[in-house]
Amino acid sequence: MDTHVHLDDAAFDPDRDAVIARAAAAGVAAMICAGTSVEGSRRAVSLAERHPQVFAAVGVHPQRAASLTGAAVHELEALVRHPRVVAIGETGLDFARGRADAAAQHRAFAAHARLAREAGLPLVVHNREASEDVERILDNEGVCAVVMHCFTGSPDLAVRWALAGWMISVAGPLTFPKSEALREAARRVPLDRLLVETDAPYLSPVPMRGRRCEPSFVVHTARALAGLRQMSDEALASALADNTARAFPRGWARGETAAR
Ligand SMILES: [Zn+2]
Repeated sequence: MDTHVHLDDAAFDPDRDAVIARAAAAGVAAMICAGTSVEGSRRAVSLAERHPQVFAAVGVHPQRAASLTGAAVHELEALVRHPRVVAIGETGLDFARGRADAAAQHRAFAAHARLAREAGLPLVVHNREASEDVERILDNEGVCAVVMHCFTGSPDLAVRWALAGWMISVAGPLTFPKSEALREAARRVPLDRLLVETDAPYLSPVPMRGRRCEPSFVVHTARALAGLRQMSDEALASALADNTARAFPRGWARGETAAR
């Protein structure tokens, strides 16, 4: 499983079909392509139409929050009805470069939260230096089904959010030498709250670090996670498949292809 990948990114223009084929060959049974703009969300849906192992999430990235006009929300609403759309996102808050557009980000995040609630779909959340605001908005908007994508917070936060029922998705940084806190988080989160992803084309895991990331590389992150959890690769893969099916019920409930 790769629960978060940007297959529509221009980095994959030269060889997108080969990338998807390599993922399948590596045993990555399913991928969720997350939109970062209305246009990108449309591309994600069309990839999901063409590839049985690809599903789509639709949303506008917090760094583009100002582009989420009323018209853009309507366009997302229309996309949400597509049966291959299994989540709303990527949305969230990113204050890594300051809070200059905090109001626009708050507004956009709340709009995505409402879309998710109305559609009964999980919300895929990007959080950079904004944990308090993220938690407050999710609580205010009454969103229960949450996937914390590329989690990078503290072990205590991971456990607290997992106990609240939110999924903690770990990406390539789990394998980076300096990520001891993230590894501690991954050890302590209840197993049934864990997901794994690449966030490709970004954040290649060790030993692929420095190369363009692609979904087949998720096996390296999964292997690291299995080691941390002291589980076999197979047992962890089975748990992650169950978690993915529970986290994204629209894609898996009807026994679609790639259930495992
Ligand atoms: Zn992403």
